[in-house]
Amino acid sequence: MQPLFLYNTLLRKKEEFKAINPPFVGLYVCGPTLYSDVHIGNCRTFTSFDIMYRYLLHIGYKVRYVRNITDVGHMENEDAATGEDRIGKQARLKQLEPMEIVQRYSFGFREVMSLFNILPPSIEPTASGHIIEQIEMTQKIIDQGYAYEKDGNVYFDVEKFSKTNNYGILSGRNLEDQLNNTRDLDGQEEKKGRLDFALWKKAKPEHIMRWNSPWGEGFPGWHIECSAMSKKYLGETFDIHGGGMDLIPTHHTNEIAQNIGCCGAAPVNYWVHTNMLTLNGQKMSRSLGNVFLPAELFSGMKLAEDSPSATPSQAKLNGKHPLFEKAFSPMAVRFFMMQTHYRSTLDFSNEALQASEKGFERLMEAYKTLQTIPASTTSSEDVKGIEAKCYAAMNDDFNTSVLIAELFDVVKIINSTNDRKTQLTQADIDLLKTIYQHFVFDIMGLKIETENDKTTVVLDKVIHLVLDIRNDAKTNKNFSLSDKIRDNLNSAGVTIKDGKEGSSWKI
Ligand code: AMP
Ligand code: ZN
Repeated sequence: MQPLFLYNTLLRKKEEFKAINPPFVGLYVCGPTLYSDVHIGNCRTFTSFDIMYRYLLHIGYKVRYVRNITDVGHMENEDAATGEDRIGKQARLKQLEPMEIVQRYSFGFREVMSLFNILPPSIEPTASGHIIEQIEMTQKIIDQGYAYEKDGNVYFDVEKFSKTNNYGILSGRNLEDQLNNTRDLDGQEEKKGRLDFALWKKAKPEHIMRWNSPWGEGFPGWHIECSAMSKKYLGETFDIHGGGMDLIPTHHTNEIAQNIGCCGAAPVNYWVHTNMLTLNGQKMSRSLGNVFLPAELFSGMKLAEDSPSATPSQAKLNGKHPLFEKAFSPMAVRFFMMQTHYRSTLDFSNEALQASEKGFERLMEAYKTLQTIPASTTSSEDVKGIEAKCYAAMNDDFNTSVLIAELFDVVKIINSTNDRKTQLTQADIDLLKTIYQHFVFDIMGLKIETENDKTTVVLDKVIHLVLDIRNDAKTNKNFSLSDKIRDNLNSAGVTIKDGKEGSSWKI
């Protein structure tokens, strides 16, 4: 077996992966903050780590994969640690308990992960379920002299830490640069240094989520949750820590400082970061308001409005967005994400998705053909060589983009053998089936879409066509036709709901 190389953000280069305690591997990935629906950008990051997880399993590692759920402590403006708690704010606006907000979006998140065929992690810890661990870790950092308490808040002392450690080791930025890039913020005069960040925050009277601590009632900072939970489940030093690149300068930089401040050891050997999904070149993010939700793309995602998992946006959308001519299947979108290497940006557009859908269909058609192609006594193709190239692609920092190019060579061979232009022995045909099983299904995590999936996509298109005709009828004041369409759809079991943003349907 060839060694696996992965790009380590710490060293800014690829290096050979060596597990601390093989065959075990500890993998931690920063999970979502569940104050709204996860968007396609979040899904890109979780898909990329799903492929890494699957590949590590495939080559024989026993992986403990921890992906947390942030349900407390993530502020609106996290870099400046200002604003309201994101979940607390939603709870206030919707007049719900914060845990009702988290519960609602957890359902949606899990449904989206499973539609994308993303394997569940081994442990999915929540920040609010680990308050004790976060308090203990904060106390230990204070005891080690790297944090101080001021009026119920506890801050990490970055200047003190920097005397003996390189605070900017992950981002490659020196302290002076970082200081110059940080503003003085109102209300934070009690901090000793501008780069100091909160481990524990005092709760204002109106703050909903609050716990007792040695420093009074409050709640943990966002960064300490990942330090405390990764340490608890994976140990003081573990193998791989991942997340999106946007987390490097603050969240992950502070995680390293906290772990060293607490335990004196660097927490992670390999830091792995995925690049952003963009829209017209701009990062897709909830704060910029340019997000796409899976429910806007998938026609198969039919959540009843009254189901506990249905967030209002999911119930409303259902595979319809003005930017997209049609709905896409989750597997076509997954395939789209894998066509670009995880460390490059990936721009989201109708054209790019359509091209990926075609590619995905070609790959799956060839698999069907593979079941019936004739065997010869000799082979004109080097199938073993292709298999080796597939492994080489994955061993080169999980390069799915190169892997897909190799798989399209497989498609060519299948089609040309089917056309009797090339020959394959039965052993080679069997090896091609193994290549599909390993690389397409097990590692890339693609699924053959069932007839049922396809029927749902077609049904969605047909109903939207009928709804368009009904709309035209309404515009032409032909109400008898528009009512007839609605009534007949109703008696066929399809309920239509008219809203400001058009009509939606459910069965
Ligand atoms: P959040 O819920 O915002 O804390 O993000 C959860 C994960 O999604 C983090 O690892 C982020 O780095 C990642 N993420 C957020 N936006 C994007 C994006 N546009 N493209 C790829 N990953 C993203
Ligand atoms: Zn994290």
